[in-house]
Amino acid sequence: MNSHLDPEKSNFSSEEIDIEKALRPLSFNDFTGQASVLENLEIFVKAANLRGEALDHTLFHGPPGLGKTTLANILANELEVGIKITSGPVLDKPGDLAGLLTNLDERDILFIDEIHRLSPIVEEYLYSAMEDFKIDIMLESGPNARTVQINLNPFTLVGATTRSGLLTAPMRARFGIQSRLQYYSTELLADIVQRSSSILRVPISMEAAIEIAGRSRGTPRIANALLRRVRDFAQIKGNGSIDIEISKYALKALNVDAHGLDEMDNKILTTIIDKFKGGPVGITTLATAVSDSAETIEEVYEPFLIQQGFIIRTPRGREVTELAYKHLGRVKGNIQGG
Ligand code: ATP
Repeated sequence: MNSHLDPEKSNFSSEEIDIEKALRPLSFNDFTGQASVLENLEIFVKAANLRGEALDHTLFHGPPGLGKTTLANILANELEVGIKITSGPVLDKPGDLAGLLTNLDERDILFIDEIHRLSPIVEEYLYSAMEDFKIDIMLESGPNARTVQINLNPFTLVGATTRSGLLTAPMRARFGIQSRLQYYSTELLADIVQRSSSILRVPISMEAAIEIAGRSRGTPRIANALLRRVRDFAQIKGNGSIDIEISKYALKALNVDAHGLDEMDNKILTTIIDKFKGGPVGITTLATAVSDSAETIEEVYEPFLIQQGFIIRTPRGREVTELAYKHLGRVKGNIQGG
């Protein structure tokens, strides 16, 4: 995969993670886009602050890199409380969770990323913590083993997931606030690119910001990653500031798709065209053909491809559009490959 376009953050170096932190908005005012989500959150936070209560448990869902972790941190700042951060796969056993929960101060946030990956036993343990702010703790082991119930400080669980379809119904029902994050428009991403450029102290023209934004797959994390790479080109090949020429030159050298589609996006489109005559094709069949899970395609890739007009959903399955043929330089009816 073209790593500049990977919305996941796992392939970032530690220096890049530091920069990512510096670019992260800290308050509602700093945060661009997701207007309706923000509007509601601001009200809920104000109300919780007014009453001196913990905010209701909050779930953020949506594709990677759209700002779920950022929003969890902003909630902590706006509530003026502490935040502890963990993720579903890290919490192996209830004891791991108990340690975190008992260390939360009143109204603190516990942020669990990838909450759909909690083990069932940890998930169940979380239920009473979320509902009654109580947990059972096992004291001693062997014949003297006994459990005691302890009270927790009222806290807010903020969960984030890219795969809301994998969340169990009882888990989902325990979140009083649920927000779905949407892909960003090019205009909003251009604002984010400009904000990031000023934090990185690199001058950028509006035209260049729009060019980078348009190739960022609707995703702030990708926009910031591309900006950093274009900045490198501007400093080494140009005069240090980012204009449209150096942006186009850099994006071409980086092999970034004109629409910001990543390798899997393009693989999905070519597979539908080459193996299924442009569709319609059922999601399970498509998933097998591209060697990924149906859920990932439905929740991570397809929403962007539909939003951009490359795919449509019909009752008989997914179909590519004229735009997809054009994008891939294919002619309808001309089948290539197997
Ligand atoms: P993942 O699901 O992969 O954990 P995420 O949805 O939690 O991703 P974040 O880590 O919050 O995404 O955001 C990725 C980066 O994008 C952040 O470092 C931040 O700089 C930037 N970012 C996200 N949303 C915004 C925004 N609305 N305005 C400005 N920058 C943003």
